[in-house]
Amino acid sequence: MKTVILKHGKDRPIRNFHHWIFSGAIESMPPYEDGEILAVTSAQHMFLGYAYFNSLTSIAGRMVSFSQRKPLAAIEQNIIAAVEFRKAIFKDSGTNSFRLINGEGDNIPGLTIDLYKDVLVMQVSTLGIEKIKDKIVEFLIKHVNPRIIYEKSEMPARRHEGLDSFSGFLYGEEDPIVTITENGHLFEIDLEKSHKTGFYLDQREMRTLIGNLAKDRRVLNCFSYTGGFSIYAAKQGAKVVDSLDISKEVIEQAKRNFLLNDLDPEKHGFIVQDIFEFIEKDELNYDIVILDPPAFAKKKEDFGNAFRAYKKLNKKAIQRMPSGSFLLTCSCSYNMQENEFLRAITEASEETGRKIRIIQKHRHAMDHPQNIYHHEMDYLKSFLLYIQ
Ligand code: SAH
Repeated sequence: MKTVILKHGKDRPIRNFHHWIFSGAIESMPPYEDGEILAVTSAQHMFLGYAYFNSLTSIAGRMVSFSQRKPLAAIEQNIIAAVEFRKAIFKDSGTNSFRLINGEGDNIPGLTIDLYKDVLVMQVSTLGIEKIKDKIVEFLIKHVNPRIIYEKSEMPARRHEGLDSFSGFLYGEEDPIVTITENGHLFEIDLEKSHKTGFYLDQREMRTLIGNLAKDRRVLNCFSYTGGFSIYAAKQGAKVVDSLDISKEVIEQAKRNFLLNDLDPEKHGFIVQDIFEFIEKDELNYDIVILDPPAFAKKKEDFGNAFRAYKKLNKKAIQRMPSGSFLLTCSCSYNMQENEFLRAITEASEETGRKIRIIQKHRHAMDHPQNIYHHEMDYLKSFLLYIQ
């Protein structure tokens, strides 16, 4: 077997189940093809496992097995474990859709898979996974038995791997529409037109929280996408639910989702507008406002601009909201840590002079496990604020 030998001391993170091998950690490398899986040992030739390698990326290798178990067998085992874990946490719940594979959080770097009822949506971010995609599809058919497997790999990161964007059906009938149930609420997902993998499953628990607060309240859902928070709020008896998004297409989908849940879209507001325009209004007469924007800091270099954008948005909202209202504010920027996001919110609050309390903090929903030794997957943070 071709073997990569690490530099002295560089085996420690790997022995701690961190998946990434940087090029600076490598002592010697056999000739190989980009995307190939190779054995990995310490400087003392202690066997550490297997990783796939790519000469084009700064992360040279990503571990797929931390033992003698062969790479494909390890991946199959990790898929089985991921299915078991989700079965355990969603047992008897009114939810049939969840993240099934969360990259390193499920010990399979480069792979994200959501299950939408009986449809799997797969996102491949590395060449190493691309090369064994057919095998992964085989494992999924065997262990999940889906009706459809659809690939939706449109992330810019693929370019660094030497991969183009790709979307298409890999298995089953070519039916792009699936209706899922989340805590008893119905959502239609259009596999081809939807953003990311289809639905923002990571915010499920926050949607429940907003639903629980919504009765008799007026709710503004900014960055509403297909109406996730809006439907929970309307179903739980909110007086008014206004959904705002810059995309007309997702607002149309939100309306269809209202109908699916026996809610009359005519009784609620739907606004297609840029939030930075809308937020200039004199007042935000709502009891609950949700700010769940797309990642403002997509790259490290974006940090400064992203910080200012989060601060501006939150400041404008806090200034204009009434006393006794709730603001759910979120950031899914991996390049902004929780403490940095909190600093943006704190500075925004200070500049309004209002009394603000944090009453909830949240990270990802339970089906997005994080490898405790590998924090790089940790992106989402939310604060529920009470404005006095
Ligand atoms: N909260 C949603 C997910 C939000 S995704 C949920 O739980 O399902 C982010 C959304 O923000 C996308 O739908 C995108 O169209 C929208 N968006 C991006 N920039 C925007 C802007 N400047 N103003 C309003 N909406 C915007």
